[in-house]
Amino acid sequence: MPSIFTKIINGEIPCYKIAEDERFFAFLDINPLAKGHTLVVPKQETDYLFDLEDNLLAAMNVFAKKVALAQKKVIPCKRVGVAVLGLEVPHAHIHLIPMNSEADVNFRNPKLQLEAQEFEKIAQAIRSQLEL
Ligand code: AMP
Repeated sequence: MPSIFTKIINGEIPCYKIAEDERFFAFLDINPLAKGHTLVVPKQETDYLFDLEDNLLAAMNVFAKKVALAQKKVIPCKRVGVAVLGLEVPHAHIHLIPMNSEADVNFRNPKLQLEAQEFEKIAQAIRSQLEL
């Protein structure tokens, strides 16, 4: 059965899309730790990030970098933090989380509750700064 992220990539489940190329897809995390919290996933469905073939993993990080640079331009933050958990969804993904302190990337923090309109506004702002 396809993962929830494959369904998002295929447009079967809606998302707040940030970016896409032939191999990767980025969209806002629906339970964000911070405004602009984004997930980067490979279109090739693989559970564990470090099972990805070397070139694909390297390219995924370059794709994530482009997203992070756009996030940084739009979301006031010191840095964009990078996290890999994968405990919930068995489809490799990188979390890109705008942060001002270590505490901002604690996954035990309560998640932000945002209206659809705000998600869309954030996604649109990040997309506008993307240089793929
Ligand atoms: P983990 O697998 O532990 O890295 O967590 C999976 C992440 O995917 C969580 O932060 C969820 O909020 C996020 N997530 C799950 N379903 C969706 C969805 N339909 N759209 C956006 N983000 C999602």
